[in-house]
Amino acid sequence: MDPGTEDADAGRIETRAAGAAGADAAPPGLPGLAPAPGSTPVTTAAATLPLAEGLRPVAPVPDSPALAAPRPAAPLRRPEIPAAGIKLPPPQPPEFALAWSYSRSGQLRECERAVFWATFGSRGLGLPTGDPDAGRAWALRHLTALPLAVGIAVHNAARQVLEAVRAGAEPPSYEAQLRSARGTLNHLWRASQPDLLGRFWSMPGVHAALREVVYRGELRAWEIEQARAVLAGCLRHLRSAPVLDDVRGCAASDVWLPEAGPVHFRLAPQSFGPGAGPRLAAWTRPLTVWAAPDLCYVHQLRAADAAAAGLPEGRRYWCVVDWKTGARGCEADERLQLSVYALWLEASGRPSTDDVYLGRIVALRDASERWYVLGPDERAAARHAIAADTERLLGLLAVPSHAFPRPKADWALAVRRGTCATCNYAALCHDDLATRDSAVGTSEDGARVPAASDAAVRATTSSPSPPPPHPPRA
Ligand code: SF4
Repeated sequence: MDPGTEDADAGRIETRAAGAAGADAAPPGLPGLAPAPGSTPVTTAAATLPLAEGLRPVAPVPDSPALAAPRPAAPLRRPEIPAAGIKLPPPQPPEFALAWSYSRSGQLRECERAVFWATFGSRGLGLPTGDPDAGRAWALRHLTALPLAVGIAVHNAARQVLEAVRAGAEPPSYEAQLRSARGTLNHLWRASQPDLLGRFWSMPGVHAALREVVYRGELRAWEIEQARAVLAGCLRHLRSAPVLDDVRGCAASDVWLPEAGPVHFRLAPQSFGPGAGPRLAAWTRPLTVWAAPDLCYVHQLRAADAAAAGLPEGRRYWCVVDWKTGARGCEADERLQLSVYALWLEASGRPSTDDVYLGRIVALRDASERWYVLGPDERAAARHAIAADTERLLGLLAVPSHAFPRPKADWALAVRRGTCATCNYAALCHDDLATRDSAVGTSEDGARVPAASDAAVRATTSSPSPPPPHPPRA
């Protein structure tokens, strides 16, 4: 879409090229990504990773003031969602209903009910026949939060740059990529306005809408400012990311860009070993895993660097890369995510048994990097985590072989009330949460505090799953 030709009726969202006038330049009043007066752009990092220093991580640059600003809590409203006219998709084959993904794993830890809505309720399963909440859930499932939209725009830009670098061509300019990304985000904002929102409710998945606008009626100033800062900073840092130099040094055949969009691979049930739970042990189909890195390439690691990093010399060093556009996660989560990508690489059949697996987190928001060695122990731990989540999910099914769920009420509401503030399905849980909250107090940080009997707590929630047992390290 040409970012300069938005709907004239919405003159407020007209954009212009951001070239010589400055990448952040835009007309006043641009609601989606207009520069705020006095805003400070994210500084460009001069980040390098000399190979002579092995796999030393690149230190972050400080966040811009826009990213460090306090985030006031904003109340939600219940959006008016049409009760009829939202067409449900056909049921999924069981292997897809049970598929594992990194985001579903987090969802399962935070709130079983969210998994129910995303996977079953939004397809009319586990609800009374004709329940209008099924269609509502299907629509809400397709809302896009602004940070996610920014992340998708940055990932698309990163793919463009990588494709050019792999082909030995000049990547698109920063200004062109920023202009294009802002156009996409403005289009999304425009599509979320009341006069166009009916298109989203009638065909979610075809049309898009912003979660913040649907639930609050508008974007807050800090949300806009943060989106602007993250987008500009990530696109700048992308161009100076050391990984691009490493890719330039590779033969094109050693650089692999998994296809855009969701990618899955399969794990055989027996790959989980004897430690798998009883329900998974009875599962005979391959397990689907939705995961693939943003980039995979063969890293040219010199012998001295391998020795410095404690790695065997003279091997092929496969590296799976994940771009991050949000705030830094914890090391255990990064390691798990990269280890699942290593399973994807393993399943591709490309590496030989002697090859070494490396993982690289490239945090575009602050231009930092972190490296991980993804040995057999890490890959076994990833399999174990997938097995533990699947075992838990199977326990929430009434007919596991057909992936038919237990009723909605059996899926526990969020462990922490704060989770609901950013959940797409908040409109559907309002009454159940109100009932739960009348029996269970809520502390200031959103944690539940028993205010009635333990039985009342158990009736509305379930305990978070214990961490998966880690396999013994070799
Ligand atoms: S609104 Fe809260 S309880 Fe409902 S699905 Fe979302 S996180 Fe779970």
